[in-house]
Amino acid sequence: MNRQKVQEYKTLYLLAKALEQTDDMVFITDTNGIIEYVNDSVSIKTGYEREELVGKKTNILKSGKHTQEFYKKLWATILSGQNYHNVIIDKTKDGRLYYADLKITPLFDDNQTIQNFVATSTDITNRIEMEKKLEKMATIDSLTGIYNRYKIDDEINLQIARCERYKEVFSIIMFDIDFFKVVNDTYGHDAGDRVLKVLSQLISKHIRVTDIFGRWGGEEFVIILSKTGEDEAFIIAEKLRKIVENYTIDGKYNITISSGVTQYIAPQSREELIKKVDEGLYLAKEKGRNQVVVV
Ligand code: GH3
Ligand code: MG
Ligand code: MG
Repeated sequence: MNRQKVQEYKTLYLLAKALEQTDDMVFITDTNGIIEYVNDSVSIKTGYEREELVGKKTNILKSGKHTQEFYKKLWATILSGQNYHNVIIDKTKDGRLYYADLKITPLFDDNQTIQNFVATSTDITNRIEMEKKLEKMATIDSLTGIYNRYKIDDEINLQIARCERYKEVFSIIMFDIDFFKVVNDTYGHDAGDRVLKVLSQLISKHIRVTDIFGRWGGEEFVIILSKTGEDEAFIIAEKLRKIVENYTIDGKYNITISSGVTQYIAPQSREELIKKVDEGLYLAKEKGRNQVVVV
């Protein structure tokens, strides 16, 4: 063997060793996704022996947690010769799910035809779980700056406890923007986001400091009114309804809201209370929107 060949073999040997020893999972597949090579990390992580994977399709790891659309997009990207990078949920041999930071790179031959795909993936389950925990611990909705759903849940629990212990009354208002889809469809999603922000500020300005106001989801909001019966809660909801109706956001967008209002009546669970106020909201929509219904 000449010196150059020896050098080439040495390099190849080192590369193979690096591939074997890296903590990242490495897969090499053909253009149909049939696995041709996996490194040791793949076996360690997925629980499959190398022999069980080679010759199989990568969808052996499919978790069922993604839509068909997700995989279609992945394949469209790499088959068009581009790199793919995303977080994917895969499944081990014994059925455990894990989050992987996945990168797929197409390998081309001399004619610029795709020959193989190389996928490297890192298990990031711990990180994702930590992020989820942090998200739950946080109490603020990032878009609007008001409380989020977790905080609302916590606060309702607190109010229920107080109601049982000290016989304090409280009520809740749940409201939803009328025909919000039209705002998004006409002016775009960013304009929709802007409306959500300004509406949140507007409502915040017109409630009492003791009221807890949060985003329940999408374009639905909840206000918890402590020491407030349903008659007073109705008056507050009506006042807010009118304020919104008469306000033009950024001088451009006019919206209205529909509200359900209910007073907590023991014994009732948080879920039952939410279900009830949601019924009020539904009735307000059914009766023609831009109104308040007490249930
Ligand atoms: P309805 O009067 O029955 O409430 O009609 P609607 O059009 O408001 O209907 P619905 O409540 O079903 O639609 C909610 C829409 O809100 C759909 C969704 O695209 C939009 N949406 C939800 N969350 C957000 C968000 O964070 N930003 C934006 N821009 N739009 C959102
Ligand atoms: Mg709506
Ligand atoms: Mg809605």
